[in-house]
Amino acid sequence: MIIIGAGSAGLFLALKKSELEQKSGDNERITVYEEHKELGKPIQCTGILTDEIKKLIPENEIKKFTLNKITNATIYSPNRKLELRMNDNLIIDNVAFIKYLADKAEKQDVKIETEKKFLDNIKGDVHIKDLKSNKILDLKTDELIGADGPMSSVAFQNRLYGERKQLIGIQARVKLSEIKDVNSNNNGTKNNNIKEFNKNNIDFYPHIGEYAWAVPENDEIARIGIALPISDDGNKSKIFEDFLKKYPGTILEKQGGLIPLHKPNMKIACVHADFAVALVGDAALQIKNTTGGGIIPGMLAAQELARGIDNYRKNLKPLNKELYMHYLLNKSFHNYKDSDWDRLLRKASSEKIKNILMETNRDNVRKMIFKLALHPLMMSEGIIALAKMN
Ligand SMILES: Cc1cc2nc3c(=O)[nH]c(=O)nc-3n(C[C@H](O)[C@H](O)[C@H](O)COP(=O)(O)OP(=O)(O)OC[C@H]3O[C@@H](n4cnc5c(N)ncnc54)[C@H](O)[C@@H]3O)c2cc1C
Repeated sequence: MIIIGAGSAGLFLALKKSELEQKSGDNERITVYEEHKELGKPIQCTGILTDEIKKLIPENEIKKFTLNKITNATIYSPNRKLELRMNDNLIIDNVAFIKYLADKAEKQDVKIETEKKFLDNIKGDVHIKDLKSNKILDLKTDELIGADGPMSSVAFQNRLYGERKQLIGIQARVKLSEIKDVNSNNNGTKNNNIKEFNKNNIDFYPHIGEYAWAVPENDEIARIGIALPISDDGNKSKIFEDFLKKYPGTILEKQGGLIPLHKPNMKIACVHADFAVALVGDAALQIKNTTGGGIIPGMLAAQELARGIDNYRKNLKPLNKELYMHYLLNKSFHNYKDSDWDRLLRKASSEKIKNILMETNRDNVRKMIFKLALHPLMMSEGIIALAKMN
């Protein structure tokens, strides 16, 4: 098996596939080709994970790449805020996480080749460019996997690209000024536009850009970002700079990347008699459209793909149902105006609704919607949301 891309989806697939092979006594060679020199870089991710990660990685190993734990969230609308307790979320060191997965895979005999860029393939004849020597390698495989991110060349080469939409995610790591400095202006009065910062709380703004966030790495540094439609070109940096003003401090670095949008019923695999190709992770648009969370969906899909390409689509059904719900919610929220967000947060402030929101996580949104739909306060919101879906 040849896997293109050493991100979380490609590496987790390599790891799971090699574990299954070891159990069954097969020893098909698995090689991951990555175009970058250093695994995990450049960083293009905020690194927030729900507690679903505990189902994928042994709990005692998660601390190897965890920087911080999140226990609370504050959701803002233009004129309201909603404070929620949540199941533990983790903030990870993205590079340490990728290196952890690579290390585990290599221990299972997976070969990881860096500075090797996938160029093209004709069925199982695959061309990879060695970026150090500039030589082209001619390889043969009966299984080619595109785990090569949102602009997947494997998808493109194998007519699986289809029509895709992406958002652009822009983020800064900011060393925050001290709260006592940022929370008062020159007159000593409280400046409500500047947020207090708590190491265990994330701030989420569904009405700014497509959505915006402030996520603490520790009690000094936060990852502050915004997702915007690609087409808003002229305005992008202004919207971001304005948002950053809520969290004054020193910008340590800026990061950015594409956030694909999930599209239901996309073709993500093609099986011939002697050759099969499949996509996983961002390459397959396996991502939650409401939040841009793609790491866990990509890993869940990788786990299913490891069990075989033949049943991949069938085995993905539960994940696809979940992603479909995020797709529908996002379609509706996309048309929400400021007053809609204020109304939604007002309704969600009821203790009963808050309890439902707090007891389910973002990787289980179907369960959450089902419970919310039964609540009279949210029924009317459901009808408004349906009307906004076009
Ligand atoms: C600003 C931002 C913030 C985000 N925050 C979060 C978050 O907090 N939580 C979350 O769950 N998700 C988040 N995401 C989404 C998350 O980063 C992705 O869903 C996830 O990284 C996808 O993993 P992947 O392995 O599918 O793809 P990638 O991580 O994109 O990995 C693909 C790999 O393929 C390599 N590659 C590409 N083309 C080739 C080629 N031709 N040859 C060889 N190698 C190639 C790339 O170099 C890369 O290493 C965020 C995204 C952005 C942009």
